Amino acid sequence: MTGIGIVGAGTMGHGIAQVAAMSGQEVSLIDISDEVLGKARQKIESSLKRLSEKGKIQEGPEEVLERIETTTNLGSGVRDADCVIEAVFEDINLKSELLREVDAHAPKDAIMATNTSGLSITFIADATKRKEKVIGMHWMNPPQIMKLVEIIKSEYTDEETLQSTLDLCKRYDKETVISQKDVWFFLVARARTGYSTECNIMYLRKEADLKELDAVARYKLGLPMGEFELTDFTGAVDIRPKGLKSTEEIMQTYPHFEPWPALLSVYRYLSTELWGPMSEKGLSGLKTGKGFYEYPGGKYLKPEIPRELSEKIDPVHLLAPGLNSAAWCVTNGVGSIDDINKSFRFAFGWPKGIFEYLDDYDINDVVSILRAKQEKAPDWHRDFYKIDPLLANWGS
Ligand code: NAD
Repeated sequence: MTGIGIVGAGTMGHGIAQVAAMSGQEVSLIDISDEVLGKARQKIESSLKRLSEKGKIQEGPEEVLERIETTTNLGSGVRDADCVIEAVFEDINLKSELLREVDAHAPKDAIMATNTSGLSITFIADATKRKEKVIGMHWMNPPQIMKLVEIIKSEYTDEETLQSTLDLCKRYDKETVISQKDVWFFLVARARTGYSTECNIMYLRKEADLKELDAVARYKLGLPMGEFELTDFTGAVDIRPKGLKSTEEIMQTYPHFEPWPALLSVYRYLSTELWGPMSEKGLSGLKTGKGFYEYPGGKYLKPEIPRELSEKIDPVHLLAPGLNSAAWCVTNGVGSIDDINKSFRFAFGWPKGIFEYLDDYDINDVVSILRAKQEKAPDWHRDFYKIDPLLANWGS
């Protein structure tokens, strides 16, 4: 593989373009906006300069940059590509329409990969005439730094496409995990949904303050960022309600895309009560200067969180729902315990995989906290805490 087309030059697209160019590929970076393309080029250049100063790249920044062409013309941009990766907004109709267009212009053997964070690869593939060559290639943010790429097969992806995509990741010096099923959020993010939604639910129901929850993550679990710090950093209050809307659209055609209705109920609740209203008020985190925390002038500032706040909540309150969603993935054949542990380390920077916390925390406490949460939860929410058989039988 030599030439690659990347569609969408925003947060993810420009980073993927940099990685591809650093690996020696000729890159065509495509966007609808000249302004975005200009900014993307500047960001790549500064990043390459920093890497060069640290001696982390062998070539000069200009040589790498010369391999990246930018264009607003999709047809000419993908014409010579062996592989096209789309990284446009998280909107199922936009992605389907875009791949239909790429399909019309790219060489007939080219692979078409989508960087969707959790939408159906099968649905997107259905928009094209080369369904078997469409694959999910889910990069982590920022692509230049994060070591993991998650690969997702659709119902049609063939073995050759899978193997070529894995080879491409190897060329990029990335670790990979394969999501064995095309379900909402796939493997990596899906396994983390229990931890992430529980932080939000406890905050919304005033069971804990956001700094207390982030303090537990930072100081007790050793995570690089608490849930709310991370949400502000990625702008997830905007992304999640949109992702939910697309998921509901996908489910009209593929009801089996989300086989666990309890997760949908939780997402609907949080989107209506918390993320949607925050997004409408412009509280989108770092990019708007204010989210759960404040970032004067839109500059990143690590929130100050006193260590003593971490004593207020038992970490098992967060770990137990997290372990339950991770266990759901194993029980439902989405991925193995080892792949999930690897994902937490490489995708989210956790010091260890979520199942490895069971060396430090008692499985009996995990099970009894889930049971207590289940008893307290309203009807629509109760199934979310239903103890997965993997946890119920852990160690036996
Ligand atoms: P972004 O908003 O930063 O960039 C999207 C870009 O797509 C914009 O520059 C926009 O101009 C461009 N675009 C829109 N329609 C287009 C079209 N028809 N043709 C060409 N370009 C078009 O978004 P992002 O954060 O980079 O996310 C892109 C994708 O990556 C989404 O599917 C998202 O879910 C996924 N993703 C994001 C993250 C993250 O942390 N930001 C992580 C993993 C995956």
